[in-house]
Amino acid sequence: MELTTRYMTRNDCYKANQKISPKGIMVHSTATPGVMAADWFSRWNKSYQAGETSRQVAVHAFVDDKGVWQYLPWNHRGWHCGGAGNNTHIGIEICEPGGFSYGKGSAMVGYNVSMNEAYFRKAWQNAVELCVMLCREYDLTEKDIICHSEGHKLSIASNHADVMHWFPKHGKSMNTFRADVKKLLSTKNKPAEPVKKKYYRVQIGAYSDKANAEAQLAKAKKAGFTDAFIKYD
Ligand SMILES: [Zn+2]
Repeated sequence: MELTTRYMTRNDCYKANQKISPKGIMVHSTATPGVMAADWFSRWNKSYQAGETSRQVAVHAFVDDKGVWQYLPWNHRGWHCGGAGNNTHIGIEICEPGGFSYGKGSAMVGYNVSMNEAYFRKAWQNAVELCVMLCREYDLTEKDIICHSEGHKLSIASNHADVMHWFPKHGKSMNTFRADVKKLLSTKNKPAEPVKKKYYRVQIGAYSDKANAEAQLAKAKKAGFTDAFIKYD
């Protein structure tokens, strides 16, 4: 499992800076086909703007077939489940693959199971390994892991279907997920420590005026540096 940590310091939830003692893990899936873990940084690392609702959210990590992107400290109070579960649970989102759309409610329309099987297995494995790492860090077991829809049944989360609208398509459930976590937790040899990705960043300027920074960013992107971004300190 490859773990990249990059905190969403401009997200309102990060700024709220409330802490929790994690008592469990809540597994979500994004309901946003084809948007992978790294892509959520630019989407959510922003403050709430008048008229929006979509950014009043933050989860601890996104998981896809490549690895895990951690966006909040694990003991930060997240805004992931719209209920009391935010006070106790670490929230992780498994990214859903592309190539389908959502119909009414949580119906996945045009979801190709066999085409997505390889992606699903890798993302599943990364989610299992992340849960094992967190269980060890916070002295939890597989019993402390629920999904969003189970959280709703326990009255600690809003009424969402994830992940049970998706897992069964691949013959899986939260019970088999917990079973896989239990199995890996019970292995004597701890799994390899997550690989932390290192980055060597190249800075091209420092500005006290945001407009100047944005102008320089636009210039860099125009020059072909499409991965360029502004880092606020
Ligand atoms: Zn959810």
